[in-house]
Parts: sequence; structure tokens; C-alpha cells
Amino acid sequence: MVDSIRTTCAYCGVGCGIAATPTGGRAVTIRGDEAHPANAGKLCSKGTHLGETVGLEVRLLHPMIGDKRASWDKALDLVAKRFADTIARHGPDSVAFYVSGQILTEDYYVANKLMKGFIGSANIDTNSRLCMSSAVAGHNRAFGEDVVPASYDDLDEADLIVLIGSNTAWCHPIVYQRIQAARAARGTKLVVIDPRRTETCEGADLHLALRPGSDVALMNGLLAWMDQGKLLDADFLARSVNAPEGFWDHIRTGHDLWTTARACDVSPAALQQFYELFAATPRTVTMFSQGINQSIRGTDQVNAIINVHLATGRIGKPGAAPFSITGQPNAMGGREVGGLASTLAAHMDFAPDNVARVGRFWAAPTMATKPGLKAVDMFRAINEGRIKALWVMATNPAVSLPDANRVREALEKVPFLVVSEVMATTDTSVHAHVRLPAAAWGEKDGTVTNSDRTISRQRALLPLPAEAKPDWWIVTEVARRMGWRNAFAYDRPADIWREHARLTAYQNDGARLLNLRAQATLGNDAYEAMAPFRWGDTPFADGRFSTPDGKARLLPVSQMDVQGPLKDWPMTLNTGRYRDQWHTMSRTGLSPKLARHREEPLVEVHPQDAAALGITDGDLARVSTPQGDSLFRARISDGQRPGEVFTPIHWTDQQSTGGRTGLLPRPLVDPHSGQPGFKSTPVRVEKV
Ligand code: SF4
Repeated sequence: MVDSIRTTCAYCGVGCGIAATPTGGRAVTIRGDEAHPANAGKLCSKGTHLGETVGLEVRLLHPMIGDKRASWDKALDLVAKRFADTIARHGPDSVAFYVSGQILTEDYYVANKLMKGFIGSANIDTNSRLCMSSAVAGHNRAFGEDVVPASYDDLDEADLIVLIGSNTAWCHPIVYQRIQAARAARGTKLVVIDPRRTETCEGADLHLALRPGSDVALMNGLLAWMDQGKLLDADFLARSVNAPEGFWDHIRTGHDLWTTARACDVSPAALQQFYELFAATPRTVTMFSQGINQSIRGTDQVNAIINVHLATGRIGKPGAAPFSITGQPNAMGGREVGGLASTLAAHMDFAPDNVARVGRFWAAPTMATKPGLKAVDMFRAINEGRIKALWVMATNPAVSLPDANRVREALEKVPFLVVSEVMATTDTSVHAHVRLPAAAWGEKDGTVTNSDRTISRQRALLPLPAEAKPDWWIVTEVARRMGWRNAFAYDRPADIWREHARLTAYQNDGARLLNLRAQATLGNDAYEAMAPFRWGDTPFADGRFSTPDGKARLLPVSQMDVQGPLKDWPMTLNTGRYRDQWHTMSRTGLSPKLARHREEPLVEVHPQDAAALGITDGDLARVSTPQGDSLFRARISDGQRPGEVFTPIHWTDQQSTGGRTGLLPRPLVDPHSGQPGFKSTPVRVEKV
């Protein structure tokens, strides 16, 4: 009998542990790992059916130059030469990497090191920009470091859980089950704040179907209400928090209950019920996700939530914290190594001291000294001719970025496009000059960090098929061919892990919480046997933050005027996930069982709007914006607010002729985080 191998789920930021057993050929049986702290043996439908997705039918198995098979040597030489030539002719900022929360921390580390320390640009960004970069910016503004100040254990100890902008029941199902278990065990109250009535709202103590984009008003109103009732934590405020001049005047002006209820389009009674519940419950966790982050005011929305927790002392204590839950399996690992264009490495920004410190550590020839292009700007720069060589790793921006038709134009236009991929064909890779076959989940080895800072191993269960290679190997081979052989002399992921850990601890005098010093000398066997562990036990438990004076910062954020309906685009589009699909369905689309949940992309329309538009359930409807249009099957749902529709993000040209949500939103981003606003796009809906 073959022993099971402990690994981590390929999908969301819950980061569930899996015990996988190879049973011959490519077959694998999957069960939840009872010893993993994130899931204690449970798995959702996506994780359960992972074994159906490891076949080779749709895989990219050989390096390809154009449509011709090539040797690894030839393909890698070409990539290295074209990048080196482009840098020599046009400078370091003429090249870019667009990477992914699907790659492992070790992959991220070497890609970040190559771009920021050796090429000398910070033009490496990730699809995690679309997921949680507003939370990163909000944490940095408030705490001085991008630290998630909560863990899943807090859900077991909270008396109130507020879910804001999160369909947790579908998008983080094991977390939702944990919340339900806490409710059953200790009567934890649940408030859901979401314009839509989703499955998460079923059985909640309160659902506030607020106007999209009114979250700042809601949280400022809560702060004003608690201030007026003298319900703030004066000791914590005095000891651990700085408020800029005028902050309290700002909160005390225009945030009374009635004004806030109007701004949020909810009843004053329901609003008061929420505020009273929050005020009466010191052990409150406010958990937020894409509904908060994916907004052109995402960072302010994050800080509006954090402000309330700071001012009421609901942080650094069991069962009390603001808690950003990430979408992807390794969005957090990417943040930790600095794989965002806006961070340098190991939770450091581009302050000159940090650039010098990291440069010393890497013995880097050409350090990036300023932030690079974030995702949306990166593709705009390609269209403008400023980026001349792009390497896309493990992601499909032709589908997932906003204004995706312009992204396709960029992919067609860029003089040199490399795509490292698991799949033979994606909407992005059809434009590639070079395609490099990457190892898939179940074949690669490394670490991932989930939403609550638990680091787990992904382990290989199956041999690498044909010529597929791990991403870290592909990146280091290109780096060596560009002349940096010694700096990228890694033999295995453990070598990279130790270097990453050493960097987190290097000249870290305690100013940064991310410090993996104990991992820096881990032997190869210990790395192989690594059990899941969480770093930074209870951040800020001592009331000290990662700012120069040790105090957190309140941010005076304001509600933006919510735009009324536009003449030609009178409805508002919200987007999101289905329970049983993942991103652009390259993996989940392989499972017939998962496809049964939702077989087609639907546009959900309120009955009132459907009647006005002459649409009935099952009709085909066209959703249009100035950026483009796509067809969806109509579904009439009173879970929508009137005037608002919802479509899923998953469908691509490979799967369907319609359902292309990504081409609809405007390429508008939050000014602090660069995260695109997917959640409220003016659209027109018509019966076809
Ligand atoms: Fe995988 Fe997320 Fe489901 Fe857990 S909750 S099994 S990590 S998809």
C-alpha cells in the first residue's frame, strides 16, 4: 500500500491540507489532511475533485518556439538572449514579468530576485494585484507592514463575525464551515454585508444589502456612532494609535445614522441593529475579501474597516481583528517575497535603506530603486510600446484583467512574449512567441502561505511529465544564461527557501514582523518534512505596530460620491466566482462533476429589471459596456438589488463563445493599490 503524501490544495487562500495517494499511472486519491490546522480533514467540492484534474490531455509538455517543438536549451537561450538584448537596447524598464498567486514561494522568490536585483527593474507584478493588493496597501498604511492581524483560530473565539464583500460560502467554503461550527458551538453571531443576497446570507443574523461602493460610509458611520456613545477604547487609542489632526472632526461630520443609512441605501433600523451588535461584542472579527479589495476605493475601504478595529481595541486579542482573506493559494507567499511591483522584498518597500540592504544581501549588480508597473499599467505600457518583452507565468491575463480586449491587443503587439504554462493552449498563450511547459500542482515542490499566515508544503505526488519543469528551475536557467550563474545556483527548492528565510531575518532589528530566521538553517530533510506553521503568532498583541513610533495609524478616509445610473449604461455589473469553478477553469473545467453545478455563464437579473427588459429565465442576454460585450444566459434572481446584475469570471474563449466577463470592466484602479475595480461597472443589458 502506498503512503499518502501531505500537500496543500491548489485553489483558494484557505490553504487546506490534503493527504493524496498516488494509485498508479496518473491516478491520485484525495482526502483532507486531518492534521492541517486550516481544514482539519475537511475539503470543499473543488479540493475533493482535484484527482480528476491531473490528466495530461490538455497539457503543454514540450518547449515550443512559435508552433514548433524546441529543445529546452534552444528555448531558454532564446528567452535569455531576447531579454538581454531588449534590456541592452531599451533599458531595464522595457521588460516585465507578470506572475501568479498559483506559483510557489520559491518560484516567486527567484523571479523577484532576477527582476529587482539583477535586471534592475521592479516591473514584476502578479495576478494577486487583482485579488488583495488593496489589503496590502491598507495594512501598510495602518500598521506599517503588510501583516494580517488574524488567524482562523480567531473565528473559533469570536462572538461576532462580520463578513463584508465576501461570498464565503462559495469562495472560501471551509472557512464558512468553520464559522458555522462556531455558531453552533458558542452562538457566534453572523452579519453579512453584501449588495447581493448570496448563499453566505442564509441563516445569518443580519444581511445588509448595501449600495455597491458605500462601505466607507458604513464603517465611518459605525465609528461615529461608537464615538458618540463613548464606546471607543480610550486606553488603546492613547497607547497604540495615532490619529492625524482633524481625524475625529472628519468622523463626527456627516456620519450620523440617518445620513449613513441614506448613503448605504439600507434602513436606519437595520443599520442601528448592526452598530449595536458590533458595539456590544468586543470579540469581533471583520472578514473581508474581493468585494472590498476590488474597487477603485479598495484601500480606503480596507482602512475604514481597520480604523474601527483600531479605535475600539478590537485587534491583537483572541477573536478580535480585521481579517483579509485572499483568493489564491499563494497570494500571501508572493507578498512575503515581494512579488508585487509595489514592494521590494521580505515586506520591505523601496526606501533607500531597504534597497541598499537587499542589494547587499543579494550582492546585486543593478537594484531596482523605485516601484514598477502594476498589472493594469503594465499592459497599458505594452500597448504604448514601452514594454518590449514580457514573460507571463501561470496566469491568463487575456481573460482575467479588466478591459481584456485591450489586454489581448497588448499581447499581440508586444515584440517578445514568453508564457510558462501548464496548459497547451490558453487565451494568453496563443499569442506567445515561446511557450515553456511548467510543472503542475501534484508535480511541483515548494511552499505556500494561506490567508492566516500558515506556511504549508505543496509536494510532488507524480513524476514530471515529458519535458515539464518547475517554475523556479525555468527562471534560474534563464538567469544563468543572462550571466548570473552564481547568484542563481540553486539545486532544489529548499536552497531557495533557506535564502528567502535568511533575507527576512537579514539586518532585521525587529522592525519587521516577517522574520523566518528559524527556517534559515533548515536541512533538506527537515524542509521535506516541514509541517504547516504560522508565523507571527498574534501580531500586535503587545499593542506595538511596525511603524517608527510603534503606533498604528487611523486614516481619514471619505466616502466617494456614488455615481447614479448613466444614460446608455444604466445598470451596474458586479462580478465574482461560482462555488465549483476556479479562475479561468483551466483545472476545474476538467472535472465533469464540478461542471454540473453551473454549466453556463449566467447573468443574474432582478425580477423588476427583467420585466422591464422583457427578459425571462433562460433567455440569452447581451451585457455591454464601452469596452465590449458578451452573451450570458439570463437568470432571474431577487437576490440582486434592482438595477444591478452579476456575472461570473470563469469563462474563456477556450470554453465558450460567451460569458467573457473580463472584457466588460473599465481599466480603472485604486490609486493606492493599483487594484482594478471589478465590482461596479456601468453596463447595458438587452435580450438577444
Ligand atoms: Fe481547496 Fe479552498 Fe476548498 Fe480548501 S476551501 S479545499 S483550499 S478550494
